[in-house]
Amino acid sequence: MTQLFDKILIANRGEIACRIARSCRALGIKTVAIYSEADANSLHVELCDEAVAVGGSASSESYLRIDRILDAIKQTGAQAVHPGFGFLSENSEFASALEDAGVTFIGPGQHAIAVMGDKIESKKLAQSAGVSTVPGHPDALDSAEQARSLAQTIGCPVMLKASAGGGGKGMRIAWTLDDVIEGFNSAQNEARNAFGDDRVFIEKYIEQPRHIEIQVLADKHGNTLYLQERECSIQRRHQKVIEEAPSPFLDETTRRSMGEQAVALARAVDYHSAGTVEFIVDVNKDFYFLEMNTRLQVEHPVTEMITGLDLVEQMIRVAAGETLAMRQEDIALNGWSFECRVYAEDPDRNFMPSTGRLSHYLPPDASDTVRVDTGVRAGSEISMFYDPMIAKLVTWGETRADAIVAMRDALDNYVIRGVQHNIPFLTALLDHDDFKSGELHTGFIDTHYPDGFSSGAVPGNPTLSLAAACCCQLIEDDLNTQFNNRMVPVPLPSTRDYAVRQDDETTALRVTRDGDRLTVAIGDEVISGEWGWQPGSSRLQLTTDDACTTLQVWREGRRWQITCAGRVDNWAIYPGHIAALLPHMPTLIEPDMSDYLLSPMPGLLVRVEVDAGDQVKAGQVLAVVEAMKMENVLVAERDGTVKEVAAKAGDSLDVDQVILQFDEADA
Ligand code: ADP
Ligand code: ADP
Ligand code: MG
Repeated sequence: MTQLFDKILIANRGEIACRIARSCRALGIKTVAIYSEADANSLHVELCDEAVAVGGSASSESYLRIDRILDAIKQTGAQAVHPGFGFLSENSEFASALEDAGVTFIGPGQHAIAVMGDKIESKKLAQSAGVSTVPGHPDALDSAEQARSLAQTIGCPVMLKASAGGGGKGMRIAWTLDDVIEGFNSAQNEARNAFGDDRVFIEKYIEQPRHIEIQVLADKHGNTLYLQERECSIQRRHQKVIEEAPSPFLDETTRRSMGEQAVALARAVDYHSAGTVEFIVDVNKDFYFLEMNTRLQVEHPVTEMITGLDLVEQMIRVAAGETLAMRQEDIALNGWSFECRVYAEDPDRNFMPSTGRLSHYLPPDASDTVRVDTGVRAGSEISMFYDPMIAKLVTWGETRADAIVAMRDALDNYVIRGVQHNIPFLTALLDHDDFKSGELHTGFIDTHYPDGFSSGAVPGNPTLSLAAACCCQLIEDDLNTQFNNRMVPVPLPSTRDYAVRQDDETTALRVTRDGDRLTVAIGDEVISGEWGWQPGSSRLQLTTDDACTTLQVWREGRRWQITCAGRVDNWAIYPGHIAALLPHMPTLIEPDMSDYLLSPMPGLLVRVEVDAGDQVKAGQVLAVVEAMKMENVLVAERDGTVKEVAAKAGDSLDVDQVILQFDEADA
């Protein structure tokens, strides 16, 4: 056994920094966190043995500052650096600066990083290594006209891609020859702005494809293995949303030939450490190389779940010079695993990032079948400075169907309040018949949600949700009755009548109690079971004769807010005798504030970026509000015209105070 490192610096933040820290701890290695101003109180700082502040909240002032990270290494005596993903993980300059400082980079060699970081170079290298690549033109394009004439040869649809691209940026599909010029120009502009490198190339656009990637692992002694595949076809804007391992599409032969080609490519760049070779796979199971990511991938946990390996541990062992302890035939493919990326974003507002404080945060319990990789806890801030990922939720099952059930249950149990999040969307995807039957392709989301996602359209189970609200009310009423008469035990009535009022209609609910069992009758429907809930708790566990279901409960005044199968409903439950009087009560009409921009929190108005009369586009910045030392950028939710600006920079705002008003006509 080689001596592993005494101390590793983790050049990252959030969930991946926490995840790396855990593997280091298991190996008995001390850890050093680096952190920005915004992250001073974050979980990754707490989990590491030491922590060094490296600068301002913007990544460019902290996590991307090679000089400051080198200082932190000097200061703490760390012998190696794990870069995680994002930030400096694929920066060969960083790898070389570490080498000069005599510090080990836990990742591949600089040559592999440099070649694979360039899509044109890596595609050429893949071709020469005998790896199947997407048909197209090998070199950077000189002009839009050249793109058009090549598109004619290749045949539309084609894809225009930035050579320096990543994270789904700098990519355009041209369905017809007429789209090619525009596609080339916009891919080139985006590439110039995002990567400072405007080289664009062209290849065939593979229709209805699947994204299937191979995890490779290599040591410094010439041993290179593939750790099976991951399917990442559920994407939005070319970014992965749900991943799984193995792929429901691959047979043993295709798996082996993709694995062997991935290994051949890794060998061609003398690869060591963990890396991922991404392929696009067409409906005939023909596969084509897309790119190689020379780092740990966001979705690596699904591979860990089916192989039983810890990829971070393997990377550390390889970096320390160990020989891989296993051979290709030892690599397991045990059961099935899914990963959902839980994001702070609003699925109802075109997935706009949502920032703020996690006022309530209760992840599902970790177990052999559920893993939650996160960098946050209750009270953490989701800031605008970094990726808005809250957590990666990972499940395992013997079969694909079991792993889906485990994921659905874990999503039902995930309580997040304070920011908008995509759990309703993830739940809807998991419940989709095509998803369940494994009929995936990269256009899945666009095909099935052509007009975007609306959480109001999630079917949920309204009867169950209403029954839950009613039982919560009853449990609370019964407890109150008992507590108010503590001296004498009070016999609880075995039957109670309640009513719910909705859209001017009153529906009667009758609850019958038999020990712990409550039976709710709503019209002709009857739901009977044990309702595990205590006043104040945010989860309710319903056990019926054939299932156990988790619902979420939140109380606001008279209203019970119940989350059931990804759907949120509000129910006002009244005792039966009061319900009879409800039709005589005036209805409270909520004012329509949709033409107003309101301050989402108490804070200081830093600036207003628009004037009365301005036309604004959805997503455009309207104003910035500072609260708790954090700047919150308020953006337009839709196109419109500003009618009046009601507040000015320097004003101190209450929550829901009007900042500006839009023209009604635009509503
Ligand atoms: P791909 O590059 O194929 O899309 P991933 O889905 O693993 O691979 O990652 C998407 C991109 O966004 C990568 O460049 C990754 O490094 C970056 N990224 C993803 N999540 C985070 C995060 N939480 N923090 C920093 N960077 C991230
Ligand atoms: P990035 O570096 O941004 O991850 P990739 O080359 O890995 O770029 O592509 C990201 C996604 O874009 C793929 O997962 C796939 O959905 C889509 N894509 C890329 N190239 C093609 C292609 N030639 N045909 C069809 N889809 C493609
Ligand atoms: Mg990619």
